[in-house]
Amino acid sequence: MKVAVFSTKAYDRQFLVAANSHHEHELVFFETRLSSHTAILAADFPAVCVFVHDLLDATTLEILASGGTRFIVLRCAGFNNVDLQAASELGMKVVRVPAYSPYGVAEHAVGLILSLNRKIHHAYNRVRESNFSLSGLLGFNLHGRTVGIIGTGKIGLILGQIMKGFGCHVLAYDVYRNAELEKIGGRYVELSELFANSDIISLHCPLTAETHHLINAETIAQMKPKVMIINTSRGSLIDTQAVIDGLKSRQIGFLGVDVYEQESQLFFEDLSGEIIQDDVFQRLRAFPNVLITGHQAFFTEEALYNIAETTCANLADVEQGRCCANEISYQLN
Ligand code: NAD
Repeated sequence: MKVAVFSTKAYDRQFLVAANSHHEHELVFFETRLSSHTAILAADFPAVCVFVHDLLDATTLEILASGGTRFIVLRCAGFNNVDLQAASELGMKVVRVPAYSPYGVAEHAVGLILSLNRKIHHAYNRVRESNFSLSGLLGFNLHGRTVGIIGTGKIGLILGQIMKGFGCHVLAYDVYRNAELEKIGGRYVELSELFANSDIISLHCPLTAETHHLINAETIAQMKPKVMIINTSRGSLIDTQAVIDGLKSRQIGFLGVDVYEQESQLFFEDLSGEIIQDDVFQRLRAFPNVLITGHQAFFTEEALYNIAETTCANLADVEQGRCCANEISYQLN
């Protein structure tokens, strides 16, 4: 099947070409993102393959459908960038890669926690400048601290397991309980209790209408002073301006984020030498107690391998009309 593969970097091509060696898809790679402006490139392609910053709103989907596209093949788990209702009305199938790097993302969250706490990013720069002073590098023991995990699916559970290994107490909030988390001693509580008692809060729920700006001025006010907030999930779980205010008042002691509300203007590109126009982002990264990575939590060899293998298998399933376990179902009213 002919597949228009959008938002591809050299590393995507490498893993997809390798996975496709035991399939016979005709993969055509585009570096550009898919949007209503670029959808025309997919004319006559039965399938498009996309990632987190491709925008599949109703207009884009209509252009794709009129060009003959029937299958939307996501190389990621989250699908907040796809208008599922529009896809369903246009008779398009949407498939995804539900799990490709749960260990990678959870381990990255731990990396942010440790770096922020022990100020490893500052220490690295100091030592390079022959500054061996310890002033300002004081951290705290993780042992005995309370970690609040919001969203205890695949990634949240693994984070809970790792933090238990550090000797932390684990509080959890989810709309569904995960028995595995309870088995290792995690305790489900109401969100207000999690906010009030956690030294570290880590977000692992999807972005939905319910979770949009879950971290806002009101919820920040319920947290422990000097709380550490970690977000490796989706940028819009956090109201960035509210977090900036919380950092300025010192209610938030540390912020580690791999995702950012307006990241599609910035992340995955080399913008060194460019003038960044996003003043909110510039303010955020100016704080010494904020650590930002550019949506790299998933970025491990294992993840790229799993993404490519599952994507090629999903393409084979939809092409041959087989039931695909990774299809995202949407019920039209
Ligand atoms: P998952 O589906 O296994 O788990 C998500 C959990 O969130 C589920 O248990 C679900 O019940 C829970 N949830 C849903 N709505 C909720 C709500 N309103 N409040 C609290 N919990 C709620 O997903 P996962 O594989 O663990 O991934 C979690 C998120 O991580 C994804 O949605 C994605 O946005 C993000 N992610 C980021 C990266 C990265 O590179 N930074 C990579 C992969 C996934």
